[in-house]
Formats: sequence, C-alpha cells, structure tokens
Amino acid sequence: MVAEVIVDIAHSDVDKIFDYACDGTVEAGMRVVVPFGRSATTGFVVRLKETSELPPEKLKKIYRAEEDLPALNSECLALAEKLKNRYRCPMALVLRLFLPAEMRTGKVGAASRNFARLTEEPFDPPLRAKQQLALIEFLRDNREADTALLRERFGGALKALTDKGIVMIEKRRVFRDPYRGVEGENVQRVLTPEQENALKIINETDKTVTLLHGVTGSGKTEVYLRLIAQQLEKGNTAIFLVPEISLTPQMLSQLRARFGSKAAILHSGLSAGERFDEWRRLREGSARIAIGARSAIFAPVENIGIIVIDEEHDGSYSSENAPRYNTFDIAYLRANYNRCKLVLGSATPAVETYKRAMDGEFELVRLPERINKRPLPAVQLVDMRREVRRGNPSPFSVVLREKLKACLDSGNQAILFLNRRGYSQTVLCRDCGYVAKCEHCDVALTYHSEENCLKCHYCGARYHMLTGCPSCGSVHIGYVGTGTQKVVGELKKLYPAARILRMDNDTTSGKEGHYKILKQFADRQADILVGTQMVAKGHDFPSVTLVGILDADMSLHFPDYRSGERTFQLVTQVAGRSGRAEERGEVVLQTYEPENAVLRFAAAYDYEGFYQHEIAMRAGMFPPYAKIVRAMVVGEDEREALEALKEVFSKLEAVYAKQPEKFLFFNKMHSPIKRIKEKFRYQVLMRITDGAPLREIYEICSAASYKKTVVYVEENPSNLS
Ligand code: ADP
Ligand code: ZN
Ligand code: ZN
Repeated sequence: MVAEVIVDIAHSDVDKIFDYACDGTVEAGMRVVVPFGRSATTGFVVRLKETSELPPEKLKKIYRAEEDLPALNSECLALAEKLKNRYRCPMALVLRLFLPAEMRTGKVGAASRNFARLTEEPFDPPLRAKQQLALIEFLRDNREADTALLRERFGGALKALTDKGIVMIEKRRVFRDPYRGVEGENVQRVLTPEQENALKIINETDKTVTLLHGVTGSGKTEVYLRLIAQQLEKGNTAIFLVPEISLTPQMLSQLRARFGSKAAILHSGLSAGERFDEWRRLREGSARIAIGARSAIFAPVENIGIIVIDEEHDGSYSSENAPRYNTFDIAYLRANYNRCKLVLGSATPAVETYKRAMDGEFELVRLPERINKRPLPAVQLVDMRREVRRGNPSPFSVVLREKLKACLDSGNQAILFLNRRGYSQTVLCRDCGYVAKCEHCDVALTYHSEENCLKCHYCGARYHMLTGCPSCGSVHIGYVGTGTQKVVGELKKLYPAARILRMDNDTTSGKEGHYKILKQFADRQADILVGTQMVAKGHDFPSVTLVGILDADMSLHFPDYRSGERTFQLVTQVAGRSGRAEERGEVVLQTYEPENAVLRFAAAYDYEGFYQHEIAMRAGMFPPYAKIVRAMVVGEDEREALEALKEVFSKLEAVYAKQPEKFLFFNKMHSPIKRIKEKFRYQVLMRITDGAPLREIYEICSAASYKKTVVYVEENPSNLS
C-alpha cells in the first residue's frame, strides 16, 4: 500500500503530498512518523492508494503510526481539504485545527494506572502474614484496586502476593475527569409553549440554519439542551458552541447534571492532559456532545445530529490566527455534510445574520418574552453632560448613586459595567459629546500618541490632534477614561460597608480567574461587581436588581463600522443581567450622547428598529453589502516588508484593474498600528462587493514568499489596528 502524507511542517515549500510505502495497519487520518530529508518528522495520512508514480526504490517506508485510531475521521479530512482551498494556507496548518495542540507536541498522552485483582490461585501453603491476608480480604471486598493505594496501605504485601501469583496486576488506561467536583441538580423543566414552538420549527423547517432570536432570559439554553437530548436519543452526536466566557461554573454544573459523562466540555481552564482526554473521549465515542468555545467546532464527533452556536454575534467566533476562519462557515459545512440542523442563538443577532434570516435564507424563530413573562428591566438614560455642568466629576450620576444605595439597602446585588474597549483612543468632548470622525468614512478617528495625530482605520486619512472642540469650543476634549480600579476606589468612599469585586483583564489571569470571581459573586460574598466586557455575558445572578452602565457611548465610537452594533449588543447583554428572578430589575445607562439612536433603541429593547437603522447606514458601504478585505504584510525587516508590500500591491492592483467596479475601496498604506512586537505592518485595504475575485486575492497573498515577512488575508477582521 501507498500512503499520501502531508508532513506536519507549516511551510508552503513542503505543502504538498508525499508518497510513502506502508502496511495494512495504516489508515487514512492517522498521524505517522516518516523519514523526511535527513531526519524524521510526523505527518498525516490523507489518503491510501495502491500504487505510487515514484519508482519503487525511491519510495520510503513509514516508520510507524502514532496511534491506533486515526486522529482524523473521514469527515474531518474532507473538511480540511475544503478549508485549505478556501483559505489558501498550508494543509498542515488546517489539519492541526482538528487536534488538541498538546497531542501534536507529544507532551501528553493517554494516562494509565495499574490495578490489582485476585487470581484463582490457591494459597498453598496457607498464608500467615497478616498484611497479606488483609490485602486479600480487601480485594475480595473491592474486586480490584489501584496498586498505588495498595502499596500505601499494605506495604510489601502486594509484591509478595504478586510474586506468588495470588494477585495479578493489569495496566489500564484511565481518563482524567476535570469535572469530578462539579455537581448540579438536573432540574426537569416543562417547556413553555413558546419553547415548544421553537423546538418544533427548528426540527421541521427544511432550512439548514435557524436563527433563534430570543431576549435575554427567554429560555434559549433550555431549547438547545432539548435539541441536543433529542439527538442523543437517536444515537447521534452534538456540538454546542458558546463563547469561552459563558462557560461559567453554573453552566458547567448544569451541563454536567443534564448529560453526565456524555458531554465533553473543553475550556481554557483545563490542563493539557484533561483537554486531551476530553478530546479522546469524543473521538472514541464515549462522549457524544462536544461543548466549548470556537475550536470545539473541530471536535472529532461522527453522525452529528445538531450544531448550536450560542451568542452567535460574539466576536470570539472569528479566528485571529491562520487560517483565519469564521466558525459559522465551518459549522455550516459540517451541518451539510451530516445533513443536520444548525441553530444560531442570540438576543442581539449580528446584522449580517439577521439580514440572511430576513432574506429567507435562514429560518427565524423568536422568543420575545422572558420566562414566566418576567418584565425586562426598565432602562433609564442619564445625560452625563449635565452631570459635568452641575459640577459632578465622579463616574456616577446622581440617579445611579441613589439607586445603588436603595439596592444595597434592600440587600440585593448590583453590577457596574465599564465599557473600556477603545476607550483611551477615541477623542470626545465632555461638554457636548462631540466625537472626532473621519470626513470620508464616518467612523470615529483613533488617537495615535507616538505621532500625536488622529487616524482613520478605514482609509488611512490623518488629522491634526484637536486642542478644542470644533462643535462647542470647549477645551474639555480628550481621550481620558476611567478604569475599573478607579471606579472601585470611588465606590469604597461612597459605600464603605459594601463588599466589592472587580473583574477585568488584570484580575482574571490564571487558570480559573474569572470562574472564581463569578462564583464569589453568585455565592453572595459581594454586593457589587465592577467589570468590563466580561460581566456582560450570559450570567444568571438572581439577586442582581441593578445594573449601571457607566459609559455607554465609549464603544459607540470605536473606530469600526460595527461599533453601533457592538454597543447595542453590549447594552442589551449587560442590561439582561438585571432582574432575572422575582424582583423587577433596573438599568441606569450613562451617556454623553443621550440622543444617540443606537442607545435609544437599546434602551427600548427595540432590536428591529436598531436593525433597520443600522442596515440603512451600511448600505453600499459596509458588510453585509460589502466585504472588508485586508492583505497584511508583516515583517521585522522594514526594507523587505516594504518590498513585499510593493510586489503584493502591484499584483493585487492588476486584479483590481480588471474589475474596478467590484472594489469600493482599494489602496495600500501603513497599518494603523505601524509596528507590533518589533514587526512592521503594512496593508492593502480593500472593500469589495459580491463577485469580486476574492480567490485571486488569496492566491496572490499565499504565493508571496519572503525570508522574514509574512503576507496574509483577513476578511471582515474584528480588529483593524
Ligand atoms: P437565555 O439563554 O435565553 O438568556 P436562559 O436559558 O438562561 O435564557 O433562561 C432564563 C431562566 O429561565 C433560567 O434561570 C432558566 O433556568 C429558566 N427557565 C428556562 N426555561 C424554563 C422553563 N421552561 N420553565 C421554567 N424556567 C425556565
Ligand atoms: Zn476614513
Ligand atoms: Zn464640544
């Protein structure tokens, strides 16, 4: 037999198929060790065939297989092929997506332990040794036991009995169980008629994709879990994707209680060994639900019955490493391969997703009300310009302070949310709310301190830094912001008795950083939780009755066409944390721009209104009407990077010149951040319409090969810096 092998080296020079001779034990999808050049390397068998075109004397032999069960099943192999063609990157990089990283580097493997058991051997002559008798007694009661434990308890008796043949030892593989301590109760709930209806529509529609648009607390999770349970009953498997941050302790225990060891939950808090074992349980079929963040879409499950992407609008579903895939695209391919349904859930769907539902491409199901018809919390908009004028320089408005006091007095909990994304870079007038924007693109400008100027990340235009507000003349213009630490400090002064927790990037490092904080808050060891984006997502804290959004507009002017959408999503998500149980919740939304349409729609929970507003703004300019494509040229040697840019640009320009009408924008420039980690960054920025030659763009970029410069393509990047 001959195996076609892709060597596990991510370089375009060796990105081709190599033939090797093999015996009958080698299967497609296996990882193998092969002779390569003057040494050996690992590779993936992608296909088997009878003969090779190579002369037999040139055909080298595979040294050995790395495992018995192929790491990749046939679906994964087919999928890898498609992804390679789509993203034009070395096959080795694509294949790696399907394995836990730990497995490739060989740092972890299956764990095994030794177990001792009694044999049928009679004791002749009769035993006298006390310890040996005790050990035999123990094994009679327990049938078998871990040898480490026996040695600890009975000392040398184990060896003596083994030597006599009375006890036998067997080496067996064990799985590390990361959720041993996690317990939860499996609440059996009766579905509401709305949930029943959603289930029915998803099961019966002839469309592959359904968008489940349900307000926060409408019971979407219960719908997903039922869909998954239905498929398990049929003998199928499931993939359930959630943003990493939503894999909270509550969520884990709920899943564990519902599905037990049938669920493999992959999250960043696992050790390498645990992650590897969870993956292996899926591959071997003992676990049948893969739950995790983005990368769980590559789970090695077969016969998938359903794929769920919760919080589908979340930015974490786009990969920022090569290949820069979008999770939806892969989920869609897998759903088609397995002929199963794909469910996207959100309270605030991405504008692009919603449009596809409106256009009839996706089925649309709504859950417009919270469970038990609990009201959504009332949102009060507070004009911070007035607070400044009244001489209140603190981050809390008078209204918020009063409500906070009332909330604490009644023994409830509060969340204060700080919208820090892009905070320090946007230039804002604290008197009138004016924000510096690009004349050509209508997106907020970004302040670059090293050059003391303002830049547009969409067209590269530069502007002088402002010293006064062009709108009202005030000099209170700048890019200063308040950090979580400062907010906590102010809170302590105002409410000395309150117990306060802080959650942001500084406090959540480490294996279980944010789990710990969330658990403390859930256990009511604190009264106020202050945090950034992380506090916004999916948590269910029944005692929270007040949410304060300290600076709602800060993400509104993030230099990104999606800033309106992100703000709407954030406000809705954070507001959704309030009043989830019996007591009605409240939300105070502080802003320098209370007339802003996006904030008004968010405060009224009017997704439909927001969508119409947003889609009209984007028409003819931004996704879903156009795609932003960026060819990045990044390298440590400035001269070589510039040379690469020139070459890539001229090739792209030739493509552009053939069909200029397909390009809304086309130019080369410095990237907004010129240098990151010692590497110079240039880009060819494009906005393209349907039918533009995207494939050619990828081909040009992947063909570019330099010593110290890399060239890659990004589609609708979530970050344009
Ligand atoms: P969503 O995912 O839409 O934000 P959740 O699934 O978190 O909503 O549900 C909100 C709350 O309602 C949760 O506390 C959940 O346990 C509860 N819940 C969901 N479905 C039901 C039901 N059918 N009956 C009673 N309570 C439910
Ligand atoms: Zn611009
Ligand atoms: Zn002003």
